Amino acid sequence: MIRYRENISLLPFNTFGIDINAAHIFYLKAPEDLKDILEYPGFSDMSDNMTDLLVLGQGSNVLFTHDFRGVIIKNEIRGIRILEENDKFVLVEAGSGEKWQDLVDYAVSRDLAGIENLTLIPGTVGAAPIQNIGAYGVEAADVIESVHAYNLEKKEWITLANKECEFSYRDSIFKRRLKNQVVICSVVFRLSKTPELRLNYGGIKEELGKRNIADPTIQDISGIVAGIRRAKLPDPEILGNAGSFFKNPLLGEAQFQVLLRSFPMIKYFKEGDLYKISAGWLIEQAGWKGYRQGNASCYEKQALILVNYGNAKGEEILALSEKIQKSVFDKFGIALEREVNLIS
Ligand SMILES: Cc1cc2nc3c(=O)[nH]c(=O)nc-3n(C[C@H](O)[C@H](O)[C@H](O)COP(=O)(O)OP(=O)(O)OC[C@H]3O[C@@H](n4cnc5c(N)ncnc54)[C@H](O)[C@@H]3O)c2cc1C
Repeated sequence: MIRYRENISLLPFNTFGIDINAAHIFYLKAPEDLKDILEYPGFSDMSDNMTDLLVLGQGSNVLFTHDFRGVIIKNEIRGIRILEENDKFVLVEAGSGEKWQDLVDYAVSRDLAGIENLTLIPGTVGAAPIQNIGAYGVEAADVIESVHAYNLEKKEWITLANKECEFSYRDSIFKRRLKNQVVICSVVFRLSKTPELRLNYGGIKEELGKRNIADPTIQDISGIVAGIRRAKLPDPEILGNAGSFFKNPLLGEAQFQVLLRSFPMIKYFKEGDLYKISAGWLIEQAGWKGYRQGNASCYEKQALILVNYGNAKGEEILALSEKIQKSVFDKFGIALEREVNLIS
């Protein structure tokens, strides 16, 4: 039996804490229920023939600016199981509505390596491939084997192998060619029994030093990442936010050298042939860190995060983000791209 509600507040379903309503919401418990949802009486009118349909995980990467007049499919597909195993790796399939952190706990507690650096990223498993979540030198793309989804346009089940997902920095085919066209129902991960730890990012090594850990386990890494994140990032339960609001811009050699001449202190990381510029640094240099406009603010401890101090409307957060984009462009000639999905 499909659970369906009308005119429901999305306040509990987005970490920015934006209080808007959705006209229609269906709760998706199992992939097979999709058929019943799509055939629900009046469904195509509710969703304006699929153009007004949004799959929602935990709402930790969205900014709503208006009431949503179409259909929300709230993903609640659960389950984690081992598909295949040998002495080197394990293929684990997780339902797309599983909490990402529950999958991390599952892996870390069983000595399955690969996602320990992605500890405490909010959200669901099904959203992980969408923007290819990443942190502390690891991306979901490093461990995703395949993605199983329903294509709403073609009305067919599809399985995309890792390469077919076209992963890149905070990007994938699901944000481009397949945007709003698929419902991801499960993801298969290749986790390793012989860990290759990545320690070179964001203070992990320093923390290992402080704790006198010479030969770290994946449990150590997960614990350290959790500690760093808790100290650094605002808890959405207390201060509404969606993590990094913008992507770190990637520049080629020529553009980077010009910038470096004008701003020798610029914060960046070299990634292959490209230079990843710290968007937080750019925003801070443009004077926005800690800036507050009504209830919308550029977080005082980390300029890349915009926060809701109370009852900010989505439009207020958006307006602040646009001012920041303009001022960073005026100062550095760099167009910041939103990481958060704008639902307008
Ligand atoms: C405090 C904080 C810290 C964060 N830190 C990080 C970080 O370190 N690294 C990082 O990469 N991200 C980070 N994020 C962003 C966020 O956690 C991730 O993007 C996460 O994957 C979003 O999951 P979700 O279930 O909340 O997705 P939602 O916000 O619900 O959805 C995001 C997008 O994916 C689509 N979508 C979701 N599920 C499905 C599905 N099953 N099928 C099809 N489309 C779907 C939605 O339609 C929407 O467009 C952070 C967010 C917060 C609040």
